[in-house]
Amino acid sequence: MEKVLEVKDLVVRYETDDGIVHAINGLSFSIDKERTLGLVGETGAGKTTAALSILNLVPDPPGVIAGGSIILDGKDVLSMGEKELERMRGNDVAMIFQDPMTALNPVIPVGQQIAESLEIHEGLSREEAMEKAKQMLEQVGISASRAYDYPHQLSGGMKQRVVIAIALACQPSLLIADEPTTALDVTIQAQVLSLMKGLIDNSHMSMLLITHDLGVVAEVCDDVAVMYAGRIVEIGSADDIFNHTLHPYTEGLFDSLPNLKARGEDLIPIKGLMPDPMHLPQGCSFHPRCPYATEACKTREPELKKAEGSHYVACIRYNESSFCLRRDKDAR
Ligand code: SF4
Repeated sequence: MEKVLEVKDLVVRYETDDGIVHAINGLSFSIDKERTLGLVGETGAGKTTAALSILNLVPDPPGVIAGGSIILDGKDVLSMGEKELERMRGNDVAMIFQDPMTALNPVIPVGQQIAESLEIHEGLSREEAMEKAKQMLEQVGISASRAYDYPHQLSGGMKQRVVIAIALACQPSLLIADEPTTALDVTIQAQVLSLMKGLIDNSHMSMLLITHDLGVVAEVCDDVAVMYAGRIVEIGSADDIFNHTLHPYTEGLFDSLPNLKARGEDLIPIKGLMPDPMHLPQGCSFHPRCPYATEACKTREPELKKAEGSHYVACIRYNESSFCLRRDKDAR
């Protein structure tokens, strides 16, 4: 299948006065055309730095992209000049941030904010851009008459719909959505998600959805990549990850979620915390928290290896004959 994005062996660090923060440590994944990939993991896994790297927006200093490649629509993002990058952002790739208020300008009417992106990237006249902005508002379920409203006149859900309209206005081939519903009321999260999914499918775009919420992933994503300490530890189709889990960390994420089928049973949280990115453990970075860790895990760094089809896992024990995740035992 044709790829819209290929990230290979990406290394990103932040060089601070206190030391080097190893944010991304050999990250590799790809997104096929017209597919949605969910990038999941706890806070501090490096998900947002990964997204900023794709846009070549890692703040420098202190951020340094120290290695690897990012190919978007066949073009090498990390070797682009400033002009080319500006064209790429908005035209080829757009981003939706967690909090709509940080993305919207409070003193400019929302219609004008959508129109501005069309004037810059599509070269439309002011009138044409406003006309298209009103159509975009209708597409995200907001009446065109609200085009002259300021952000504070809209509800939280409407503001995030406006941000979605801005992101999709120029029909980028890839949309990056970083926790797009986290700041919204639970009651409207599902509405906004299904709106985004519908628009993405209709426009034949691809999406990288960054989230810590596996419920959101189950609803929207075709493929899932699980990230830990700046690396992918498991990647595959949503069915692979949800129904054929191979990595102990992925199992830990599922076990710490409330489950309607297991009503009344205790949740099993993952013990400990994400490691300090200034002092990552040797060997498998998950070993201090992993219930299956052996002595070998403390020294051997697991590589991401193909398990089956498009399902890959980074665990030195996953194919040992005696190794069986708790989820598999319980399912027997
Ligand atoms: Fe756990 Fe070892 Fe696998 Fe790491 S390599 S996930 S510590 S079993």
